Amino acid sequence: MICSIENLPPVLAASVGKWEKNYIAKIESQGLLPFAVTPHFASLARPERDDPIRRQFFPDPREAIRGPFALDDPLGESLHRVAAGFIHQYRDRALLLASKTCAGYCRHCFRRVWISSDRDAKRSFPSIRTLEYLKTHTEIREVLVSGGDPLTLDDDRLEAVFSQLRDARPDLVLRLCTRTPITEPSRLDGKTIAMLTKFRPLWMSVHINHPRELSAQSRDTFAACLSAGIPVKVQTVLLRGINDDPALLAGLFRDCLDLGLSPYYLFQLDLAPGTAHFRVPLRRGLAIHRELSGLIPSADLPTYAVDIPGGGGKVRLHENIIVGERESHKGAEYILKDGNGKEWYYPVE
Ligand SMILES: *Cc1c(COP(=O)(O)O)cnc(C)c1O
Ligand code: SF4
Repeated sequence: MICSIENLPPVLAASVGKWEKNYIAKIESQGLLPFAVTPHFASLARPERDDPIRRQFFPDPREAIRGPFALDDPLGESLHRVAAGFIHQYRDRALLLASKTCAGYCRHCFRRVWISSDRDAKRSFPSIRTLEYLKTHTEIREVLVSGGDPLTLDDDRLEAVFSQLRDARPDLVLRLCTRTPITEPSRLDGKTIAMLTKFRPLWMSVHINHPRELSAQSRDTFAACLSAGIPVKVQTVLLRGINDDPALLAGLFRDCLDLGLSPYYLFQLDLAPGTAHFRVPLRRGLAIHRELSGLIPSADLPTYAVDIPGGGGKVRLHENIIVGERESHKGAEYILKDGNGKEWYYPVE
């Protein structure tokens, strides 16, 4: 893992401006999301400051700005926490936060405050309470194992997590949520994949934002997962200046489909602090998604969705979800109406 400018590939290190350097020096002391990138992901970046790969891991001084809409817990996960690191928000699915670290940090990360807090806290997941909860809540059919990135755990630890979940509830479907096949594909070697195979039905959900992230090594890793019977879903975050272009997204999803990966969600950005410069206005996102629907087969179109700020859950975004606009003390907001007729708010800009 590369955690300092000096350890970056020389062309990238040479591209670092003075103000970027100063900001990176401040990050640790201010308890912000750490600067870390894998050698593999860094090798995909170009030195230009607006390069879509570079921008995803390179700290930007605009992160220091806490915009009026920022929320430390943008998804309102704490409202649905039923045990330490365990969130039960939807009837039949629950989410385990199995690791607090990642193989490199995305500057747009929605859990950036959680990841940056109590960095030395040692915890063991799943907790006894989580396992008890799973035994009594038989309506839960699927557990998402997320974080952070669970693939930062070593194989023994990861195997223990999956075994404990399965022992508690042999009927569970498991979903491994990760970005490691993109950031550090060598982590998923034959041995790890063979271990994972024991836990089928197991799905993998991978965060991919740009066609250039699909390196030859990542493609091989996905092929190995698919041949091992682990289907892969793709989640993409709509990011300003990185992938907010229908033709580029269509190219990304076509590449994924060619590899046998299923586009699943295109996410509107969550309101984590210091990420507003990545936000694509909602109306523009809707226009991009509409155009995208003409560029790839409709059955392969990922669902455009947002986790409604404040714990409203995931909702599918479409023109009719916006029922009005209001001016709050934070600024202009859309009024959104979810499937149950409840009203929520999301910033206009
Ligand atoms: C996203 C999410 C899920 C899974 O939702 P899907 O629509 O099945 O991908 C489950 N629990 C929580 C808390 C989530 O945020
Ligand atoms: S991999 Fe996921 S949890 Fe980790 S920094 Fe990126 S968005 Fe955040």
